[in-house]
Amino acid sequence: MRDHELVIGGDSVPGDDGHFAVIDPASGQAFARCPAGSPAQLDRAVDAARAACGEWQALSHAQRCEALTRVADDIEREADELARLIVREQGKPLALAQSEIAGGVAWTRYAAGQEIPVEWIEETPTQRIELHHRPVGVVASITPWNWPFMIAVWHIMPALRAGNCVVSKPSSLTPLSTIRLVEIIARHVPRGVINVVTGQQGLGSAITGHPGIDKIVFTGSTETGQRVMRASAGNLKRLTLELGGNDAAIVLPETPVAAVAEEIFQAAFLNMGQTCSALKRLYVHESQYREFAEALADIARRQVVGDGLEAGVTFGPVQNADQLALVSELVDDARAQGAEVLCGGERLDRPGFFYPPTIVTGVSDGQRLVDEEQFGPVLPVIAYSDVEDALRRANASSMGLGGSVWGSDEVRAQAVASRLESGVAWVNCHAQIQPNTPFGGCKMSGFGVEFGLQGLLEFTTPQLHYVRTFPTK
Ligand code: NAD
Repeated sequence: MRDHELVIGGDSVPGDDGHFAVIDPASGQAFARCPAGSPAQLDRAVDAARAACGEWQALSHAQRCEALTRVADDIEREADELARLIVREQGKPLALAQSEIAGGVAWTRYAAGQEIPVEWIEETPTQRIELHHRPVGVVASITPWNWPFMIAVWHIMPALRAGNCVVSKPSSLTPLSTIRLVEIIARHVPRGVINVVTGQQGLGSAITGHPGIDKIVFTGSTETGQRVMRASAGNLKRLTLELGGNDAAIVLPETPVAAVAEEIFQAAFLNMGQTCSALKRLYVHESQYREFAEALADIARRQVVGDGLEAGVTFGPVQNADQLALVSELVDDARAQGAEVLCGGERLDRPGFFYPPTIVTGVSDGQRLVDEEQFGPVLPVIAYSDVEDALRRANASSMGLGGSVWGSDEVRAQAVASRLESGVAWVNCHAQIQPNTPFGGCKMSGFGVEFGLQGLLEFTTPQLHYVRTFPTK
């Protein structure tokens, strides 16, 4: 079993508290050991990051751009090994892990090329007023287990690009690809600019209360996000919170089923449904409801469920036993209330955390499967009779990450989509993201955005320069 190490101040070091096992979701067995870092090691990582700020910030934007470009080149060179590691720790099929690495490269190259503009607010013969953006300082990145590599890239690259130093803390369920990412970054930046600490318990909350950390970029559940926010008050940490979602999609009446069924299926079951902005509730007009549900069930039945490293597999396991238990519980609860499970609906009788893609009809708002974020391979298909009612039900959630409207009349679809209470409103697509477009949620899905210029500026603090001409007499 291969051991990994923490990266603190440019050195690879073992964890003070030994190791913990990392489980392969396809077998349910440990396949690697991860270092268990101590609170003292977190302190050292924060100190190293603080000490490195001066040197990193003294570099020009061009030099930081150059460093990140070299990181992207190395990720590309090591893509195959990284993708296999992601499959082992996260469970997704190899092709999807490869696209996670490709996304990581694309986002890194984008961040490398970003400019931080200076806004000229006023210029007169006697004074000049400019708005600059300074780095925040030490940024902590706390990441979840669903897209471990890509989300770490989303956090770390713009933070570094803006001149901050970073302490990364991945989920203890999927820590290894982040450790490898940090090892790659550490080759190209001064010692201490990037650090990673891993542990099974307590490190996340130690970060939130740490006086040496200036900002936390957090992606995870709403419940943990609330804890992060409460605990960060001590030194008024800046926060970006990308939290849970329960995205609704509304299919307008008379939408051709065959034209959109595959796209809707992929949006709902992306990464086995374990994607924050996956389509999680599908509202279909009652006239087409049955036809849509059957079309989705047909696609679900065609999936090849298995170990992500096996050839031909299109659908991997759920990442962990707790998430599998939640998915099973939500489906069982719906079934007990009279729902019809068109396909799937039972854990597979084999080692690992396998649950096949599952389509459920005969459910409605007020039931757990609709109201709660399932974050797994099950989609409730819900009938509506008029679009206003569907919109009201879509917006009845406390979450507000994304939402979509589907229909052949894009103008009408966009008009409906613009009334969704969500950070992103997609039309005829869902869960589409790209490096240059800001992404983030509203309501209990969090605040702040990632990507694009707005995303980069989240890692800065504004500084106004008010420059008056020196009096001549
Ligand atoms: P989680 O909240 O359980 O854990 C996220 C991270 O927080 C992990 O690294 C964990 O160790 C850490 N953590 C746990 N307790 C902490 C504490 N008290 N203080 C600080 N950190 C703590 O989430 P998860 O189960 O890993 O991920 C699934 C959730 O993430 C889902 O709700 C999903 O919607 C959400 N998510 C959101 C986005 C987004 O961009 N909005 C993206 C991916 C996932």
